[in-house]
Amino acid sequence: MSETNDTIFGKIIRKEIPADIVYEDNLALAFRDVNPQAPVHILVIPKQAIAKLSNADSQDHALMGHLLLTAKRVAEQVGLTNGYRVVINTGDDSGQTVDHLHLHILGGRPLTWPPG
Ligand code: IMP
Repeated sequence: MSETNDTIFGKIIRKEIPADIVYEDNLALAFRDVNPQAPVHILVIPKQAIAKLSNADSQDHALMGHLLLTAKRVAEQVGLTNGYRVVINTGDDSGQTVDHLHLHILGGRPLTWPPG
């Protein structure tokens, strides 16, 4: 499947629009969600255009691991010492609204389960 970086997150990667960036390396970017659902709500995204988790394949193996470890690193960086949740919404039923793979890091308060 062809992938496009022509999304709002593509614009953030290219620094065409501002974002509150908390971490960046050559593969990934992490920035604060503009509509936070918890005291800490950060998105971790790959710089490579992958629309959603279900589009990832075996070639993305290392990148997927990097994104997860980046989420852990960012959570430590912002002081989420009492736990946090990492969420990946994937496709229509999940409520995914931006077609660029992203990991939500949510924390800073007790989180309920299950999500809606
Ligand atoms: P989804 O519902 O899993 O696709 O999550 C998309 C998230 O992106 C939502 O939590 C939005 O609040 C967030 N979002 C959308 N546009 C921006 C932006 O420009 N900056 C930061 N977060 C954004």
